[in-house]
Amino acid sequence: MKKRITFWSLLFSFGLTITLFTAFPQSSNSAKSPWQLVLSTFVTLGLLVYYLKLDNKTELVPATVKGKNQASNKKEETSNAVTFKDVAGLDEVKEELEEVIDFIKNSEKYKRMGAKIPNGILFHGPPGTGKTLMASAVAGESNSHFIYASGSEFVEKYVGVGASRIRDLFEKAKKNSPSVIFIDEIDAIGSTRNMDNNSEKDQTLNQLLVEMDGFNTNANIVIIGATNRLDLLDPALLRPGRFDRHMFIGNPNVKARIEILRVHTKNKPLDPAVDIEEIARKTHGVSGAHLANIANEAAILAVRNNKSTIGREEFYQAIERVLVGLQSKNATVMEREKRIVAYHEAGHALVGKVLKNSLIEKISIVPRGQAMGYVLNSSDEDRYLHTREELRNKICVMLGGRAAEEQIFGEVTTGAKDDLSKANELAQQMVCEFGMSGLGNRVYKIGHNGELHPAVEKEIKKIIDGCYENTVSIIDKNRTYLERISFELLQKETITGQELDNICNF
Ligand code: ATP
Repeated sequence: MKKRITFWSLLFSFGLTITLFTAFPQSSNSAKSPWQLVLSTFVTLGLLVYYLKLDNKTELVPATVKGKNQASNKKEETSNAVTFKDVAGLDEVKEELEEVIDFIKNSEKYKRMGAKIPNGILFHGPPGTGKTLMASAVAGESNSHFIYASGSEFVEKYVGVGASRIRDLFEKAKKNSPSVIFIDEIDAIGSTRNMDNNSEKDQTLNQLLVEMDGFNTNANIVIIGATNRLDLLDPALLRPGRFDRHMFIGNPNVKARIEILRVHTKNKPLDPAVDIEEIARKTHGVSGAHLANIANEAAILAVRNNKSTIGREEFYQAIERVLVGLQSKNATVMEREKRIVAYHEAGHALVGKVLKNSLIEKISIVPRGQAMGYVLNSSDEDRYLHTREELRNKICVMLGGRAAEEQIFGEVTTGAKDDLSKANELAQQMVCEFGMSGLGNRVYKIGHNGELHPAVEKEIKKIIDGCYENTVSIIDKNRTYLERISFELLQKETITGQELDNICNF
């Protein structure tokens, strides 16, 4: 690139010199004036200096693996500023990684013992939980180069291109050793090889395996892969010597949520009324990325409200904005549709209240994102285990909206699309993964095209139908409460958990 710019800048400057030199009016004796020569030379030199400066600037762009066929690495820092202090929570993962960091920092000590650096670490878990952040903190803590690549960058149509990019990536890591290579979405290249012979993908994966095996004890390189789908990865990639250290990075519990919120509000002026612990309790089940987003949205809202500090109100608005979506200010909802939405949301809230499913923070029929209305729940505790009864109750709450519509209007609408999909997904998990159906303690795999065993289909239907029957009966028995909740919703559009408690005084 640099050579090309220099060539064109030289050519351009040379052309301009000729033009300037010939374009000036000639003096009477038709000889070129010395001033013409001096001026043209200055302009040319000036332009040359300018272009060479431009050239230097292109070199400062965050370096990628160079060359046409090579992987373009999104982020790469030579002196990484991110350290473990920037990663809140995840103490057990940090502890595990301390050893790897020590390996990089004091490699001689380990080499003397003939120990090989544990080069393959795999982070797995849901999106936005800090996998990339943690990998970059490993580089920061060990003063190594951080080389980022995404699995999808290696997926190419042409055979051999992906493999050559892998080679270049490792070449670069070796040149810049000590270094940490981070391959995000590694499942894009590392998913199980199957019968539909995709030779480009296989070659890329094979090259990755070869490179990982090819590390010698002198190469101070750690490779960290990240995936949301550990189950998709080829067993060859997971065997000892390759990605043999698996670390689960999940959604943060309440303690970690407090720490993450503290990290992301560290440099923000907060109103003394803001209670980080309360916000953490109300954001059960969200990822670190969501929390970072909530803190940022709250700051933006405070600026919009011309405030000098970020208040409680901004945080609560930010939570709704991030979790449910943007409020549609000018949505015109027909009166009849508004009534249906009010009964639908009242149905969810009522069934949730009767079954004591979770704490209800707010019910609203103000459209937000794609939702015409919503019930905002929170949880006082982080739960890891759920009983069959609790899961069935969850499904009942999901079906509460549809049941209310059917009971009141005698027909159903498309409004329950999302609820039905979630309810069916949970019922499928109960049958296929948790052994909580009439099929007993069995686990069922879903076919390649998503098809299910007919016996599984039958059990899912049994769970959904049973839950729906229960939901309808709850709504039927508590119809007066349903009427009162929807009346309040139609009057005020939004009611709080406290107001709901006052209505449902059973
Ligand atoms: P994906 O699987 O989608 O690639 P990820 O797990 O790699 O996601 P990151 O990109 O590391 O997630 O996290 C996104 C952002 O969320 C971070 O830049 C950071 O702002 C915030 N974040 C997530 N987890 C934490 C944490 N434990 N501490 C501080 N910030 C966090």
